[in-house]
Amino acid sequence: MSDYYIKIIPTDPYCRVPENVAEKVRAYLEDCMVAMSAEVVVHEAPAFVDCGGYLQKISCPFCGSDLFAEGWWTDAMNAAADSMELFAELEEQELPCCGRRASLNDLQYDYPCGFACTEFALLYPRERPRQEHIKELERMLGMQIRVIYARY
Ligand SMILES: [Zn+2]
Repeated sequence: MSDYYIKIIPTDPYCRVPENVAEKVRAYLEDCMVAMSAEVVVHEAPAFVDCGGYLQKISCPFCGSDLFAEGWWTDAMNAAADSMELFAELEEQELPCCGRRASLNDLQYDYPCGFACTEFALLYPRERPRQEHIKELERMLGMQIRVIYARY
């Protein structure tokens, strides 16, 4: 059996959630998502928060070209990562397809992925976040969030 996670991250990869707020959010998630475990994971710099086996495609947000198939994305990730596999600089760079500029965080990930300094990871949640949960989480955090479904 594979592991199933729901991860919640702020849309801003550099955002650090204060510890007391993070704990409140964690407890709220544990409660309403009925998860086996709910953890706060903190990184020194943005980490790639992936969807594991759900990943189907990574494409250009402008022209829709597939940036994974040709290996461009893997090379760009390797070039941007530091020795800790963190991404301190997610600067815009020229894309190989249409020449427009985007950061690795701006690409179209299907299923969604993202970069974050603070992530909330729920193992085997029985519920999925509904609009009311997302609104409440965004209110607690004071920022917009991204929901990532992951399987390993
Ligand atoms: Zn493009």
